[in-house]
Amino acid sequence: MSSVRVRFAPSPTGSFHIGSARTALFNWLHARRHGGTFILRIEDTDKERNTPEALKVLLSGMRWLGLDWDEGPDVGGAHGPYFQSERDTIYQEYLERLRASGRAYDKEGAVFFKISGEPQVIDDAIRGRVERTEEKDFVIIRSNGSPVFHFVNVVDDLTMGVTHVIRGEDHLSNTSKHTELLKAFGADLPVYAHIPLILKQSGPGKMSKRDQGALIEDYEKQGYLPQAVVNYLVLLGWSPKDDREKMDLEEIIERFDLDGINKSNARFDDRKMNHLNGEYIRDLPLDAFQEKGEAVLRAGGLTVEAADSAMVRAVLAVCQEKVRVLSELPGYTRYFFADDFPINEKALRKALKKGEPLDRLRELQALLATQEDFSPEGLEGAIGALVESSDHGHNDFFGPARVAVSGVGGGPGFYDLIHLIGKARSLDRIARFLETHGG
Ligand code: GLU
Repeated sequence: MSSVRVRFAPSPTGSFHIGSARTALFNWLHARRHGGTFILRIEDTDKERNTPEALKVLLSGMRWLGLDWDEGPDVGGAHGPYFQSERDTIYQEYLERLRASGRAYDKEGAVFFKISGEPQVIDDAIRGRVERTEEKDFVIIRSNGSPVFHFVNVVDDLTMGVTHVIRGEDHLSNTSKHTELLKAFGADLPVYAHIPLILKQSGPGKMSKRDQGALIEDYEKQGYLPQAVVNYLVLLGWSPKDDREKMDLEEIIERFDLDGINKSNARFDDRKMNHLNGEYIRDLPLDAFQEKGEAVLRAGGLTVEAADSAMVRAVLAVCQEKVRVLSELPGYTRYFFADDFPINEKALRKALKKGEPLDRLRELQALLATQEDFSPEGLEGAIGALVESSDHGHNDFFGPARVAVSGVGGGPGFYDLIHLIGKARSLDRIARFLETHGG
């Protein structure tokens, strides 16, 4: 193990925000890159605001992203995170040290830290030189006895031997308090790296927990792949010198470097996130995709069990090439599994716009009724010949037929589409469509 020791120090008050997850990831990557130690420390001294539910969400998000921590109190053979709420004796001891050196005093029931008033200068790994001077003594223990964030944060970093403090830029203005405290303990300063904000998709302002895409737990619910989310998070503020985007974890670990963190704010972009997720979906072996896909279809209320299993697999194989997020699957495949699919109005208007589309559909219907070979190749041969012998193009036939059998204008290739829907159901749907729209 190298001497690098980093920590992620969340205060679990609600959801697991994408900005926190990115901070956790950057710390984790820095530790993994240098063979160091990654610590998870729960800053839970504010009893009113920290809930067990929020802690559960956080820990499950960490596990889902694969951000394992390296040490902590023993909990049944594994190590749990550190909890500030269990470290009161340590804080008392450090408080006594400050009192003994005359740097802490009581006033109005609270305990104050006596500042030096010297300019506090740090050489931030991302921001460069930052100078700030504290002007007033500040509270470290409230009158109700609870310790203030600055104090416990610093005592923990010191006693845990943290070498790099990598955290959100919103803490930059706290750093002068932290360095004042560290110096009062006679400690060396860690390396600071303050990561710029994540801005919301459009408009000014940072991403809030109400913005679409802000919560890690939602990515899991919507069927994103954790590798894709990790890959996207790392690009939110860090870039390799050659601007590559899709990188597996090994490659990211090998290349991650605090120097590569951008100084300017990062802007969240769900198209890029979804695009990357789609690429990771295409990398999955079909078996793995099928397992995940079927679960999503069932959760979406589709009766996958009733369908022919080879057909389910073939449908999913086609979808694997197209979807970006698993949650798109039920909408995308509904017509394969259920006959009561909706007809998209726009697609309908477009399909019925020019020529005599219903005549084309009737010709196709007649052909399909006598067609024995319903394989994509067999269909291509037969339909190809029909189109050849007519004065019309492929799309004059496919347009109305697609809407009739699937309700939408897009989807898999036409031959795959009716092959997968099957002969009987394709013909039923065409007949039903002609009854409704054939006048
Ligand atoms: N509990 C603080 C937070 O969640 C930690 C700040 C730090 O990393 O020093 O923002």
